[in-house]
Amino acid sequence: MSGGAILVAVDGPHAAHWAELFRAHGQDRPVRLWPEIGDPAGIEIACVLRAPHGLLAALPNLKLIVNLAAGVDHLLADPNVPDVPIVRAAHADLSMRVTEYVVLHTLRYHRRQPLYEAQQRRRVWKEHPQPAASEVNVGVMGLGVIGTEAARVLARIGFKVAGWSASEKQIDGVATFHGAAGLDKFLARTEILICLLPLTKATRGILNLSLFARLKRDGAAGGAFLVNAGRGRLQIDGDILAALDDGTLQGATLDVFPHEPLPPESPLWAHPKATITPHNAGDILPDILVAEVMAQIGRLDRGEPLLNLVDRKRGY
Ligand code: NDP
Repeated sequence: MSGGAILVAVDGPHAAHWAELFRAHGQDRPVRLWPEIGDPAGIEIACVLRAPHGLLAALPNLKLIVNLAAGVDHLLADPNVPDVPIVRAAHADLSMRVTEYVVLHTLRYHRRQPLYEAQQRRRVWKEHPQPAASEVNVGVMGLGVIGTEAARVLARIGFKVAGWSASEKQIDGVATFHGAAGLDKFLARTEILICLLPLTKATRGILNLSLFARLKRDGAAGGAFLVNAGRGRLQIDGDILAALDDGTLQGATLDVFPHEPLPPESPLWAHPKATITPHNAGDILPDILVAEVMAQIGRLDRGEPLLNLVDRKRGY
């Protein structure tokens, strides 16, 4: 049975590669690469990554929108997204890559690596007391597909791990908190704060000075630390700088920024307590993702429930 076309609308250097992969997996559906969309009425599936707002509203026979990334904030910022199901990228490959990033930077603070790097530059041979992981409290904001995996791996290493989410959760080895009512308790026990929240109306700007001030600073980690691999607009850069300067935070590792690329004039680049990475915490092998998308299209065609559906009211 032949189906309507798949539109690949990707803003970025790899758009043609995505289209090639979809053609290789595309079965009997033609694949079109934006901006050459052809007859809009022939398109049933739109696979998007930072696609221009307004594009989807011009597709009258759209049946499914596939967001080729985990975060749907750019897609949902389009006020005219048609009322068809939206699914997003979620896969063990992506979760494990972000988990690697989180573990790397948690261990870097836990093992005092910035201090040893500074000593190395001065040729200083000096050992500092090293707490056990079991003495250090790590808190993961966002216990979704990725946050749950990261929390589990951190707990397996031996950290005292807590997590915070919108709804109540139970995860073996992880103390869980939820909602506005659970936030203060979660923060009060957290020394190394990992942020894996989606960007929504409710989470925008949540990583601010008032929140940092509620973290635990008198624990074995030697202060409070932030690792944000969620989205840039969760954080207030000026507040992070102020918190690093006055000791509210002893370190911040940031993979995401309100404006990307981070502008060269940002004082974060040169701050001695900041670690900057270019939004590279997570990625997914395009081959894996395209195979997942084709499986979703199969479910749609057979009338089966779709996986990783986005709830547009919640915003994630
Ligand atoms: P999920 O949608 O699976 O999980 C989101 C989690 O955040 C859920 O636990 C949810 O709670 C929680 N949450 C949402 N809103 C609130 C709120 N207001 N208060 C408390 N908790 C809240 O997302 P993923 O785990 O797949 O991904 C998380 C984010 O990571 C993505 O949105 C994306 O922005 C970012 N990301 C970044 C990457 C990078 O390279 N830096 C790569 C991949 C993802 P509940 O479970 O109760 O609904």
